[in-house]
Amino acid sequence: MTGASLYSRDEAALSALQKLRFFPLAVARGEGCYLIEEDGRRLLDLSASWGAASLGHGHPALRDAIDGALAVQAGASILSGTNAIAVELAETLLRLTPGDGDRRVWLGHSGSDANETVARVVPAATKRPRMMAFSGAYHGGTQGSMAVSGHSAQDGVAKEDGLTLVPYPDPFRPFNGDASGQALLDYIEHLLETSCPGEEVACFFMEPIQADGGLIVPPPGFLGGLAKLCARYGILTVCDEVKVGLARTGSLHCYMHEGFTPDILVLGKGLGGGLPVSAVIGPAWVMDHAPAFSMQTLHGNPVCAAAALAVLKTIGTEHLSHAARVTGDALQGHILTGAQSVPEIGDVRGRGLAVGVELVDPSTNAPDADLARKTVYRAWQLGAVFYYVGMQSNVLELTPPLTLTAQQAEEGAALLLTAVQDACAGLVSDADVAPFAGW
Ligand SMILES: *Cc1c(COP(=O)(O)O)cnc(C)c1O
Repeated sequence: MTGASLYSRDEAALSALQKLRFFPLAVARGEGCYLIEEDGRRLLDLSASWGAASLGHGHPALRDAIDGALAVQAGASILSGTNAIAVELAETLLRLTPGDGDRRVWLGHSGSDANETVARVVPAATKRPRMMAFSGAYHGGTQGSMAVSGHSAQDGVAKEDGLTLVPYPDPFRPFNGDASGQALLDYIEHLLETSCPGEEVACFFMEPIQADGGLIVPPPGFLGGLAKLCARYGILTVCDEVKVGLARTGSLHCYMHEGFTPDILVLGKGLGGGLPVSAVIGPAWVMDHAPAFSMQTLHGNPVCAAAALAVLKTIGTEHLSHAARVTGDALQGHILTGAQSVPEIGDVRGRGLAVGVELVDPSTNAPDADLARKTVYRAWQLGAVFYYVGMQSNVLELTPPLTLTAQQAEEGAALLLTAVQDACAGLVSDADVAPFAGW
């Protein structure tokens, strides 16, 4: 198989430092919601590279925008001179993001650099030394973004001085047995009154769905309650929508399900439709703190900015928020129906086209990471690509292109269910998955 040879060339040439592999996937081409291997085998892409390929592969709107920007080539950056496409992107993001007062946009390359910038500038601008975030949170893979994250995959990485992590509200595994989240809100309030004084806290980082922590959807009202609590102490809310933002959950911004408006919004992954671009949208008094405070050479690169503009426009013209809600509901529905005869599926949850499937030992409800590892491997053998997330590595995560069709949702759900059942039946050996320790 020629796919194997591409994979072995990768092994010989590309650093393991940048790999998180689950099976020997080697992609020759992409087409819509499919990835195509060298031998022509088509795989239904239910991950979209962790949500980055938001319009699928080879969308004409994205191609045209990138081609157009390359033809004009208005410099490479906004660092020391502006360009029309980057300005239009910033203006569009401001228009699409509700918020009060004078606001600014910072453009970066990744979710990591965007969150790192927020973690640096908010304490500086507010002159408050503390920050809060959730355990299980993944805010990035650079030093500064890891320092405000709480994911177990980053255990051992130094945290920001003054960072306080609190549990994320997980209705399936509730804090103090309270699935409503109120016990957790009370606990956070207690912290703000005691060991983590609220008036010393600059900001609270939150994912409106905790994705890498296990695709956890918070109970209704929790984040709104938390935002109210933060407002009482002047704590800025930072909503990290890098994975679940921009139409994926059935509304343009995921926080719109939660009845609050964050002070600072962080976007990435799907914003560029596969090209590297991220954005922070926040109050001018924070975002204009000092020139050159958080800079890299290629900010506002017109090709990447054009890609982002094309994604935002296409979300509108193809009504992708609505599509994600309808197709996502169907995808979840098919999985839920099938899961009734698969006791190893402990929970199915999500919003729109962000779906999590938690795999457990049915007798104890304990997380089953081994089953997750074998399921994603089996799914790749059967013709679907998706990975797993979670502090216990036991939650299958589906973040397909927003352009997924109803038929593909049905096909994807069937592949997933078969993969779980095959993995339970022992069709994947320990040796098969041994090279893919995952995370
Ligand atoms: C992926 C992710 C990041 C980091 O983005 P990169 O582009 O990998 O740097 C940050 N926050 C969330 C919620 C993410 O899912």
